[in-house]
Amino acid sequence: MNKETANNIRQDLTADCSKCFGLCCTALNIIASSDFPINKPAATPCMNLQSDYSCQIHSQLREKGFKGCTVYDCLGAGQIVSQVTFNGQSWRDNPETGEKMFQVFPIMEQIHEMIAYAAEAMSYDISNDLSDELGQKLKELQDLTKLGADELLSLDLVIYRFSLNELLTVASDSIRENIIAKLIGANKVKDFDHARADWIGKKLKDKDLRATDFRGAYLIAADMRNADLRAVNFIGADLRDADISGADLSTSMFLTQMQINSAKGDVKTKLPSYIQLPSHWSN
Ligand code: SF4
Repeated sequence: MNKETANNIRQDLTADCSKCFGLCCTALNIIASSDFPINKPAATPCMNLQSDYSCQIHSQLREKGFKGCTVYDCLGAGQIVSQVTFNGQSWRDNPETGEKMFQVFPIMEQIHEMIAYAAEAMSYDISNDLSDELGQKLKELQDLTKLGADELLSLDLVIYRFSLNELLTVASDSIRENIIAKLIGANKVKDFDHARADWIGKKLKDKDLRATDFRGAYLIAADMRNADLRAVNFIGADLRDADISGADLSTSMFLTQMQINSAKGDVKTKLPSYIQLPSHWSN
């Protein structure tokens, strides 16, 4: 698979709410917090969901306290569950299938997330062997999206996630190590390892953090304004309220739209091509 195809797969995982039956607003539970003003159990429509599955307060979500809705991204799982798995039959028209649809939705979301990571890894300069293994994994995951509801519900996604994570780690390490070798010499690789670090609120303004491994790191409310974050591995990192205004993430690895939506930034923040600039960021 060439890089352009891999990039296209990554970019195609964009939510199209016009083809979805409001699944994120119905299937998922909501807990009152700084992100939501209400409690809502799973498998129950939000009070703001309209009969055409649009949101009554779409343009005022943040003002009305529904910040979490502006952060959430299903990576296109909603339209696939609605139009492919359930053939365009909504939970309102067929209440008997509703419960199953709500259970399938988070499973499809996880599959789409894995597809996004696999496609992204394939867009990098990696060995042919690794590219072949990732290609095989990507095909397996794409095939899962075509399964029926019962088959999807019986999947053990941990197995898929575990084997994919190993390949993603090899891919990101090889990219990072090449860059680190050029930056300071190959002997200092461990200086760049901050996987699962607790850097909540850390002051990192203007820092050169290129090629750092931030896998699963807690970067909540960290000040990373104008930081150089190129070739950083952000897989699973918590970026809630991290300030990345003016920072360079143009070649950061394994970032999701949801991570970026949850952070603070501005028009000067440089993002990978497959990530949209959040509309709630300041100018
Ligand atoms: S507030 Fe709007 S976007 Fe958020 S869950 Fe309710 S209907 Fe969906």
